[in-house]
Amino acid sequence: MNYRCAHRWAFPKWGGPLEEMSDELPAPTGREVTVRITHCGMCHSDLHIQAGGFDMGGGKMSSLERAGTKLPVTMGHEIGGEVVEVGPEVTDAKVGDKVIVYPWLGCGQCPVCQRGDDHLCTRASRNMGIQLPGGYADLVRVPHERYLVGIGSLEPARAATFACAGITAYGAISKLDKLGADDHVVIIGCGGVGMTAVALLSATSPAKVVAVDPDPAKREAALKHGAAMAFDPNEPDALKAIGKACNMNIAGAVDFVGGESSSSLAVNLVRRTGQVIIVGLFGGEFRMPLPMFALKSLRISGSYVAGLNELRELVALAQRMTLPQIPLDLRPLASVNQALDDLAKGRVVGRVVLQP
Ligand SMILES: [Zn+2]
Ligand SMILES: [Zn+2]
Repeated sequence: MNYRCAHRWAFPKWGGPLEEMSDELPAPTGREVTVRITHCGMCHSDLHIQAGGFDMGGGKMSSLERAGTKLPVTMGHEIGGEVVEVGPEVTDAKVGDKVIVYPWLGCGQCPVCQRGDDHLCTRASRNMGIQLPGGYADLVRVPHERYLVGIGSLEPARAATFACAGITAYGAISKLDKLGADDHVVIIGCGGVGMTAVALLSATSPAKVVAVDPDPAKREAALKHGAAMAFDPNEPDALKAIGKACNMNIAGAVDFVGGESSSSLAVNLVRRTGQVIIVGLFGGEFRMPLPMFALKSLRISGSYVAGLNELRELVALAQRMTLPQIPLDLRPLASVNQALDDLAKGRVVGRVVLQP
């Protein structure tokens, strides 16, 4: 295989379909690495990226174009594969290493990036699969070897999904205060990311985990993955029923939907001094009576993916414990447009993982 010619699927127009294109990769310099992609997970945010932005509520959309993202865009930020070429200064990666790629890059130079929180860089966003070419390709150039995480004995397709779905769940629950056995934590939205959070939290914390999802199959799966209780948010009086079942002692609510009704449910469920963590990017506007902040001593925070160190921690944790086997739907990369369409129309169960 020629490691200097990448074949990728990219969209040349915002909102348009992906097209196959190829380009020459120069020889890796410095600490750059080329990874031959074996798997790339498809994330719900790819639909927003393809559309060009996120719903900011009140009819407003964010714009990746205004923020400087250049076309064509090669999406795909859950990249797994094998190192095939390394730059002359690379010391910690070698040809043949089985890796996943941390995609949430910043400038790489500032103190925030240097401590491994590239995703929070204040200078630049250079995310792979948005600003930099991502994993809907056969080869990808990684700007620095430190963004590679070895997967050890983990199944490569599953490990690839850790780069976004996995660390998003892990990063969100890591923000919860130390919990006791009497505490309850509500997880709203039990798709792949929410379900991973249910399993990780149940396995690592004494608190009781409460799953909230309108889909009975997801509620049942959440109970299997360690949730103590599960509720349908669309039932009349769901708020009261959940509160009562938890002895009105809900220390935290993590919203993996990030919609108007889910965030409002989260805020209303938590006890005084409770934590609300908003993760999902469904979109809309957040409204709450201002006195609630003080009266409930509420803490509301957001959680966006997670740092490089958290990805390393999650990989280590996954080698020690059995995480939920979220169903994987392996498909050829050439069917990427169909897969995006299926994802948009809600026809995907679990996570699509593309294979070049
Ligand atoms: Zn993602
Ligand atoms: Zn930085």
